Amino acid sequence: MRSVRPTLRALQQLRCLPADLFLSEAPWPRLKRNITHRERNPFLDIDLSSLDHRLLHAANSIVDKGFASDRYKAASRTAERPVYEVRDHSSGCRGAMILDDNGDPWLVYAGYHDWSDAKVAAALKKSRSRYWMPNEKDFAIREAEDAWLASKRLAADTLDALIIGIHNALLSPNETVECGITDHNGSEQRLEVQVISGKGQPLNLDESGDQEAYITVSILSGPNDYESRQTLQRAISYLKPKSLEYNVIQSDGSLYMEVTVSEAIIAQLFASVVLSSSEQKPSRLSFTPYEAQPCLHYIRKESLIPSMVYGKAALSLCGVWFIPSQDESSGKPICKDCEKIEPVFNGLHQVKLE
Ligand SMILES: [Zn+2]
Repeated sequence: MRSVRPTLRALQQLRCLPADLFLSEAPWPRLKRNITHRERNPFLDIDLSSLDHRLLHAANSIVDKGFASDRYKAASRTAERPVYEVRDHSSGCRGAMILDDNGDPWLVYAGYHDWSDAKVAAALKKSRSRYWMPNEKDFAIREAEDAWLASKRLAADTLDALIIGIHNALLSPNETVECGITDHNGSEQRLEVQVISGKGQPLNLDESGDQEAYITVSILSGPNDYESRQTLQRAISYLKPKSLEYNVIQSDGSLYMEVTVSEAIIAQLFASVVLSSSEQKPSRLSFTPYEAQPCLHYIRKESLIPSMVYGKAALSLCGVWFIPSQDESSGKPICKDCEKIEPVFNGLHQVKLE
């Protein structure tokens, strides 16, 4: 089951509700910018499936619970399909959710608390249920968004595999290690990774000094097509490389790269691969405007990749909310508090220096 998305009509209604029902950044500024810049699809970098809005969270929890209750009975009779009551207990705001003919859920209405079953039924009768259903425009946005999300997820998965590959390569200097990625066709591809230069020093947590250790890694993909190379290059951009010495497409279509990356970034990304998420997500995520972090924090896997790829705020191990994708500089040290909680960076070095 896919997550609940608002129709354009419901999106307009969400806009009229109190702004603090959005648990993270509201999409309006980005939407406005896209329209101003005449983007072909103004929703392109707005993920309607994961808008952090209380009513959408409530709607998703109805889906998660298997549609067990919360039906508007009279409204469902009028619409001749189930109409689910979506309720946010903190504000009293209500919404209505229906399934389209493919079984995908949509938030089709959002409003204040005086929205009773009878009122929904009356509104449906008056406007005909057709008016409530997602229209061609809604479906077109969903389709474009699905394609965009799929390409981002592919880059995130590739990044994940690459991080493990680089980590294994660090543990076996002078050896080529292989890692597997899945391409956009769903086929397995092998990458060869080798650390070709660079040797960091153990991190001294008591000194605030220079920790600018860099390693240069060679990455060789198997022969692949344009789209696969794009995915790989996008994944590498998340490593925030200091430099890209080689980026060569060979005659057989394979891609050879030599990338210099900060060891701190490798440690940060690797931390996200090894740290499991036992932590409870706070019920309220307050969005704070971008504040440059002086160091790189460790974040659990469930948070890091989405925050790098989708620009969502993430909570670090040491308890700081920040947005890793906006933390562009690659010359930053690892956060000492995070490293004290999980000694990932030193873990990498201990093995290397043995
Ligand atoms: Zn930290």
